[in-house]
Amino acid sequence: MKRDAAARLDTLSQQLGSHAVRQGSLAKYSMAGIGGPADLLVIAHDRETLIQAVVGARALDLPIRVFGGLTNCLICDAGFRGVAILNQVRGYRFDADYRLHAESGAIIAPIARGAVGRGLGGLTWAVGLPGTVGGMVVNNAGAFGGETSSNLVAAEVLNLEGDVMQVEPAWLEFEYRRSRLKGSSEGWVLLSAIFQLRLAEGAHLQTKADEYTARRQRTQPPGRTLGSTFKNPPGDYAGRLIEAAGLKGKRVGGVMISERHANFFINDEHGTAADYQALICLAQTEVERQFGVHLEPEIEFFGMECHCGG
Ligand SMILES: Cc1cc2nc3c(=O)[nH]c(=O)nc-3n(C[C@H](O)[C@H](O)[C@H](O)COP(=O)(O)OP(=O)(O)OC[C@H]3O[C@@H](n4cnc5c(N)ncnc54)[C@H](O)[C@@H]3O)c2cc1C
Repeated sequence: MKRDAAARLDTLSQQLGSHAVRQGSLAKYSMAGIGGPADLLVIAHDRETLIQAVVGARALDLPIRVFGGLTNCLICDAGFRGVAILNQVRGYRFDADYRLHAESGAIIAPIARGAVGRGLGGLTWAVGLPGTVGGMVVNNAGAFGGETSSNLVAAEVLNLEGDVMQVEPAWLEFEYRRSRLKGSSEGWVLLSAIFQLRLAEGAHLQTKADEYTARRQRTQPPGRTLGSTFKNPPGDYAGRLIEAAGLKGKRVGGVMISERHANFFINDEHGTAADYQALICLAQTEVERQFGVHLEPEIEFFGMECHCGG
């Protein structure tokens, strides 16, 4: 790293005091337990620190990225060059109009369970979804026929100038598993979101929630993973194709393609990002070779690229 960049990182680190650490481990916070250190790791427990870190990094012309639960990101073994901000701004509340107001670092699963407990429908599909509201909105996460974009009615976004913008759902340009905020070069940061829920029969919601939880437990492997590695190609399932290619149980280093669900890769033996990536390339290449289908990764890569499989 250039000495100049190192000096700017030190400056930001000093500005943020105990919220920032130089060469902070990202593996510790990643759901897969993988990833080298960030040049500067910032843990934001409150909105002021989150904004201060983003604005401060931009003023110093440092690359930044905000992460939530790191449940969907593969960070390379060499680490993250720049400022990685872990968003732990966890507040949320339900109001009298059945709306959920959530800070972007709030963990979604307990919120979704809380909504079910209050007899509020709309987020039941998310009872077992790992990660934060921020990642969920950015990815337009969904499961069991539900999707983030179906209930989101407003959001607050921090723009490049450091201003807080109130935006409507149309502004977010939701698509399948993505939004305008995903990988955006504009560097927008989601601060909070409002979801309109609806009053429903509590027992029915609870039955649904139990069903979804049981389905996840039955079909998804436990352990350190980034969830679905690839998006489902049109009219098919990535897991089915990887299994049909004979790759269930295949291992590279410490990472294995799950025996239970072939679209889930598990770090069960001190695996590295390079192991994970090698398995991704293997699955892409074999599925393309055997079935002529190109699998597109659902997970995001940081500090590494994935060009294999054609
Ligand atoms: C076991 C398992 C099961 C899963 N099941 C599902 C599923 O059923 N459906 C599904 O859709 N996904 C699923 N996922 C993927 C993942 O849980 C979701 O996409 C989740 O919403 C990501 O949230 P996160 O906070 O971990 O995001 P991260 O992984 O931390 O980040 C994801 C992206 O969002 C960006 N980001 C995060 N917060 C902000 C913010 N505040 N402002 C701007 N950008 C931000 C990051 O920079 C990154 O680009 C699963 C993952 C696992 C590990």
